Parts: sequence; C-alpha cells; structure tokens
Amino acid sequence: MEHQASSPVVMAPFPSLLLSEPKSDYEALSPQWVEVLVDCPGSEQKLYTYLIPSDLTVQVGAILMVPFGPQLVGGVAIRLLLAPPPGLDTSRIKEVEEVVTASFFPGGYWDLLNRVADYYCTELITVIHTALPPGLLGRSQRRLKLNRDNLPEGAEVFCSRIAQQVLTLLKAQKEGDYSYQYLQREIRGAQRGIRELMKRGWIESYLEAPKITQAQFKKAVILVRDGIPPDASQPQRDILEVLRRKGGEVWLSELSKLANTSESPVHTLEKKGYLVIELREKLRLSSHAEAENEREPAKTLTTAQQAALEAINSLQGYALVLLHGVTGSGKTEVYLQAIARILALGKSALVLVPEIGLTPQLTERFSARFGTKVLVYHSALSDGERYDTWRQTLTGESQVIIGTRSAIFAPLRNLGIIILDEEHDSSFKQTHLTPTYHARTVAQWRAELENCPLILGSATPALETWIESQKPEKYYLSLPERIQARPLPPVEIVDMRQELQQGNRSIFSRSLQAALSRLREQKKQGILFINRRGHSTFVSCRNCGYVIECPDCDVSLSYHYTQEGATELLRCHYCNHTKIHPQHCPECGSPYLKFFGSGTQRVTQELTQQFPNLRWLRFDSDTTRRKNAHREILGSFSRGDVDVLVGTQMLTKGLDIAQVTLVGVVSADGLLHHSDYRASERAFQTLTQVAGRAGRGDDPGQVIIQTYSPEHSVINAVRHHDYQGFINTELPQRQSLGYPPYGRLVLIRLSGIDEAVVQSCAELLGEHCLEWMDEMGEVLGPAPAAVMRVARRYRWQILLKFLPTARPHVRDLLGLGRLCPPSVSMGIDVDPLSID
Ligand code: ADP
Ligand code: ZN
Ligand code: ZN
Repeated sequence: MEHQASSPVVMAPFPSLLLSEPKSDYEALSPQWVEVLVDCPGSEQKLYTYLIPSDLTVQVGAILMVPFGPQLVGGVAIRLLLAPPPGLDTSRIKEVEEVVTASFFPGGYWDLLNRVADYYCTELITVIHTALPPGLLGRSQRRLKLNRDNLPEGAEVFCSRIAQQVLTLLKAQKEGDYSYQYLQREIRGAQRGIRELMKRGWIESYLEAPKITQAQFKKAVILVRDGIPPDASQPQRDILEVLRRKGGEVWLSELSKLANTSESPVHTLEKKGYLVIELREKLRLSSHAEAENEREPAKTLTTAQQAALEAINSLQGYALVLLHGVTGSGKTEVYLQAIARILALGKSALVLVPEIGLTPQLTERFSARFGTKVLVYHSALSDGERYDTWRQTLTGESQVIIGTRSAIFAPLRNLGIIILDEEHDSSFKQTHLTPTYHARTVAQWRAELENCPLILGSATPALETWIESQKPEKYYLSLPERIQARPLPPVEIVDMRQELQQGNRSIFSRSLQAALSRLREQKKQGILFINRRGHSTFVSCRNCGYVIECPDCDVSLSYHYTQEGATELLRCHYCNHTKIHPQHCPECGSPYLKFFGSGTQRVTQELTQQFPNLRWLRFDSDTTRRKNAHREILGSFSRGDVDVLVGTQMLTKGLDIAQVTLVGVVSADGLLHHSDYRASERAFQTLTQVAGRAGRGDDPGQVIIQTYSPEHSVINAVRHHDYQGFINTELPQRQSLGYPPYGRLVLIRLSGIDEAVVQSCAELLGEHCLEWMDEMGEVLGPAPAAVMRVARRYRWQILLKFLPTARPHVRDLLGLGRLCPPSVSMGIDVDPLSID
C-alpha cells in the first residue's frame, strides 16, 4: 500500500479561508457608512452610499450584496465613512444586505485594477469583472420562506388582506418558499404584507447564495490521539499508519482506499477516541497532482542555463528580464529552478502561458516538480473550480499558479516572481472585449507593485520586448543553443513556382513528398502546417467567375466537409454562417465549381491520396472544440498512434515531442502577404516556432517551407534562424512609419446595422479626435474596416497614432461614447495587435 495514486487533500482552512486586512484605524472608530461600486450594467459608474447594519463588519475591498433599485446586486466596498456624505438624506440610505467575502485585495491590488481601467480606457467595474472569478459578483436572489414552527392554525384570520394574500401564495409553494421579487410582482403592495408577517415571525427572508459560492463539503478524518489501541485489528493499524503518514488529515473516501479497508474500522477508531470524522469544505481545485508520485528531480543545468538562473536569482525587487532562448534551449528548466527558490523562501509564483489546452506537457512538468503546490487557472475550468482556485490563491500559502491571460489578476499574496512563457503570443492580449489589456503590460505593473522580477521568455521575442530589454536597468539573458548542443534544424525553402513549371501540380513539393514517404520506414513523425482550417478558402464558378460569399459579411465562404465526408458545407470564418454546398453555380447554374486556397482538410485529403499508409490527425479549431480534445490529439500523436499532425497556428505553441523530425509548411504565403503592420513579425514568429518543433530529440530535424515568395526577407531570416537579422530589417521600417514599438496606437472601432449612421458617427468622432490629438500625433481615418461588414454590422474605424514623445491621457476618449447614437457601438482597443 505504499504510495498509491491519490487526489490532493486540499481542505479549506478553518474557520474562514478569507484573509482580513490588517486592522485599519477606521475599525476602531466603527464606520457606519460605506461607499460601494455596484455591479449593475447601465448604472452610472459612481459610488453609492450604504448604511452598515450593526451586526455586519465591512472592510475596504469586501464584496457585498446591496439593494439597487428593485434588486439586490453585487458590489465592492470602496471607502468607509464615519459620517454620511453631506447633502445626502440619511433616512433614505439603504442598508448593506450581506457580506459575500470579507476584504480580499492584497496590497497594491486595488491600484493595479485602477491602473488597468485608466490605461485601457474602461470602467473600473469591467476590470473587476475580468479579475474576479465569474459569478462572484452575481446577483443573488432574496427569497421568502414560511416559518412553519411559529405559524398558528388559521393565521390568515389575524392579518390584513394584503398579508393574507402573501400567506396564501407562500403556502401554495413547495417548502413554502418563494422569490421575493416575483412575489412583489404578483401581488401589488406586497411589501406591506411582507413586513407585517415578518414582524409576527411567521415568515422570514433569506439570501440565496450565488451558485458558485455554494461550497462542497466532504467527510474528513482527523487524527486526534497518539498510539494504537491495544486491541487494534490489522485494518485499524493500517488506517492509523496512513493517517500519520499523510499528516493526520485525510478524506474519508480516500483513507479507506489508501489503507485498503472498508469504512467500518474508521468508525470503530472514532468510537475509541483515536480520530474524529467531520464535514470539511473540499475545494474544487484543478491540479495535475495525480502526478505527485512521479516527482521529477531538477536537471543539471547547462552553462547557459546556469548563467541565466544565477542572473535571475541575484535580482532584488522589480526587474524586467527577457529570457531569449532558441526553441528547445531549456527555458522551462530555468523557470522551474527559479521558482523552486521562490517557494523555498515561502513566496509564490505566477506563470502565464498562451493556452493551457496546448501546453499539457508544461503543466505536467510543473506538477512533477512541485506537486500539489501547482494550480491551474483558466477559462476552461468550471465556475466552481475557478472560484475555489481563486480562493486558494487568497490563502497566502506559498504556491504556483499556472494560467492564461486573466490569471495575471490572481490575488496571490507575497508574489516572488512572474513568468510569461512565449511572451510574444497574441493570446496574451484581449482584443474585442473590454478591457483590451495585454497580460504582459499588466504583468509589468504588477511586478512593479509587488516588487518582484518579471521574466519574459521566448525564442522570438515581440519587438516591444526586445527594445525594452535593451534599455539600461533591464536584463537580456540568452540561451543561444539547444540542449545537448542539438543543432537547430536546417530549413529548406521550396519555390512553388518552380514546382508548377516542372509539372508538379500537387500541393506537396517533390522535396516534401520525398520526406513524407520516408517517415514510416524511419519510424519518425511529421508536422504539416497550414494557416487555414477547412478545405478551401473560396469556391468560384469556372463558367462565370462568381465567388460564393457570406450573405451577412463581406467575405467569401470556405468549403468544409463534415468529419465523415458525408456533408459538404460552406462556412463563414467570421460569423460562422453555414449552408449546404450548392451543386450548381447560384448565378449561372453551371455545375463546374472550383475550389481555391488550401486548408487543413485539403492537406489531409491529399495525404490520404498520395500516402495511404500515413496515419494523420487534424489539429485545428474545428477538431478541438470538445473539452479535452487538445489533450487527446496531442496525447495520441506523442504516443506515436499517428504519423503526421496537420494543423494551424496551434502547432506553434510549445509542442515538445522528441520523435518529430519533419516539419513541413505547406504554404507560407498566407502569412507573408497580409496588409497589417505586424504581418511580418507574426509570420517570422509563427514560422520560426513551427520550425522549432523539429529535431528536439536525439535525431536531427528537417524543415521544408513552401512558398511563392522565396525571396521575402522574412523567409530569409527564418531559413537562417536569424532573429537579429529579422529585427534589423523590421525595426527601421516600424520606426520610419512611427508604429510600435516607437509610437503608440489606439484603435477606435465602431459598428452598427445602418451603414449611413455608422459612417456619420465615425466622421463626427473623427473630428473630435483630430481636435483632441492636437500635437500628439496623427488621426488615420475614419475608414471602413478591412472587412467592412461582419454579421450584418457595418464596421468603421479610427486609428490614433501617437508620437513617441506624446503622453496622452487616453481615458479621455471614453467620453466619445456619449456622442454615439444608441444603434452604434464603440470599442476602444488600446495598443491593438492588429489594425485591419
Ligand atoms: P524551450 O522551452 O526552451 O523550448 P524546453 O524547456 O522545453 O525548451 O527544453 C527542451 C527539452 O530539453 C525538454 O525535453 C527538457 O526536458 C530538456 N532539458 C532542458 N534542460 C535540460 C538539461 N539541463 N539537461 C537535460 N535536458 C534538459
Ligand atoms: Zn456561374
Ligand atoms: Zn459571415
């Protein structure tokens, strides 16, 4: 029974998990009023004052339930007052209903949220929503319940007509329990009746807690006495031994499993006074701690890793560090050892990754090193799991949180280090929802506030990060070689024009065909990258040239077929509009429709035709919709169940599979020829990252990139793994145009159903922007967006380009919203990653 797998025993510390802030001066004076930021969409973002009932204690940062209009809403206590604000009629101030969680904000956290709201031009409450687990600020319902014990027979006789109605309605309910709000709606003037019945003690009101805060309880066994009963049976001895080994506290269900007994000896031991069984809250935590038994020791670092680790360990307080390591150079091992030191100091670490689903290996490596101290926090968790993980981060215990973008707001105390892995990845930026924050920027502020180092790791650092790391007082650390001096894979560029000229009409060049045909006999695996999903990017009539478009957007429809190939579909990649693929041209009726532009389905189709022996899996957003699909596909690929993984962008993120020797880029052109100012940077990063998947094991890798533009500067830089060469070409171009990282951008997006209304609104706002910009920079537009109509909405945009010297107060732009007619919606994207 040694070391069986077991789930982590994480119990909510008693009596209350939530920490209270150090006692403030206010508390001694017992404030009576509190100003609350209420969570009510459409309400003006000002603070509302509430009275604190004498039986409640409210601290700054506490989450409260307060009456607001006809309902109860969540809110955050912002300021405590010893006297009501002057001019307020105190008799009309309502009372705080309930304290949902006591104060939680760690030091400086409040400043952080305010700074995000300010910089990203949004309301504080929107930032709070992003920062808190979903549902925490949820509305909770007030309910009424009959107090049957107090209720006399024929009570109706004693009360007013309105109270009678209330009683009758409640009696008709199951359990005599009903929503306060509904009751008020159904019986006019119910309030008076309710008060009357409450005064008599016949009914009571209570708050229904939001679902996620309803805790889960489980039976826990706690050892309370030393020694072994003289008459103990073997199972009883086993149980006591397991309990001692596990630190004296184990879940009942787990204990009998670990000790390999039934539950009955546990109950016997309880009667004998050796242990107690009590209900304890079980936090719904998502960790990978099943791996706890397979603890992995720290690796012996290479010289370059050692130098990087020492540099990180020597940092005192805030510092920005770029860890620039080529693909497979062992950055993760450096993170792990830096974190081990932080944990040993009793502090916590925050690790942000682009997408958890894509990095199961990374999370597993962390768990293998740190066991149950590692928790993951991301949007694929259930609301309950997120809430409990969030509460666990509040405990102040030393721990490691691995999460996606929003985990930057995890309220960890005593933070010792923040790490952003693959810091160049665009998923760190929230684009269409407010706040349009970049986790890297917020991480920088947070690290400053917490006075801890921020490590940005990448093989292809964002230009912003590179520039930043060259400044004095910033750190540039480099891991220029792969582990064990493995070479970076040679990159072959294939000119697809030549292929065509020489009569090869396949989507695979002869070089790629040769490499694919060798895979099976060499027992190796390959990756094929194409930046589109589906089969073809558009369908056109050979007879009249008609291109089938989305009825609701200004784009062509992509051709897909369902998994089994049974149904042929046309799908819009912007709004997801889907229809059956027509057999004839909708314009001229010709049956000759032709497919253009390849996607993942086309690649797998050709693979099947040309290499029937090769087993493949598709890895794109169509095949990974289901929960755990990422994990399953990657699992089956790394086990060697398939030979080739065909996928999109997803392939570029951190895949570390030793058997992969071949990487083929079916077409680089979709990445190269893009009008956006960041297209080159994105293309370089994507191609370098895909290439980096090859040759990570003992066998050397090979990369084949197919393109119609072999002379493109990005292709040239990728061929030579030449980051420096790439930025030497790219930076001067950005500088001459005043684009980031030199000038700042703010993009104002407008959309609405009525084309003319959107346009005139855009023009009006454009004029205001011109005036506001003054000397600070340029206003580009207003102009229609690159795809002007999406999902029937017309889109216009205004781009503000600030001079590097400008210090704009961007938050002023929020006022523009008031100039928009109700039918036009406005979004402000601060530091947009894409402007088309
Ligand atoms: P990166 O994140 O820089 O792409 P990884 O951290 O994934 O690289 O490391 C690549 C591979 O090398 C991994 O399989 C890792 O286990 C291994 N590795 C890292 N550091 C060492 C080391 N010091 N000794 C031996 N193997 C190592
Ligand atoms: Zn036609
Ligand atoms: Zn569409």
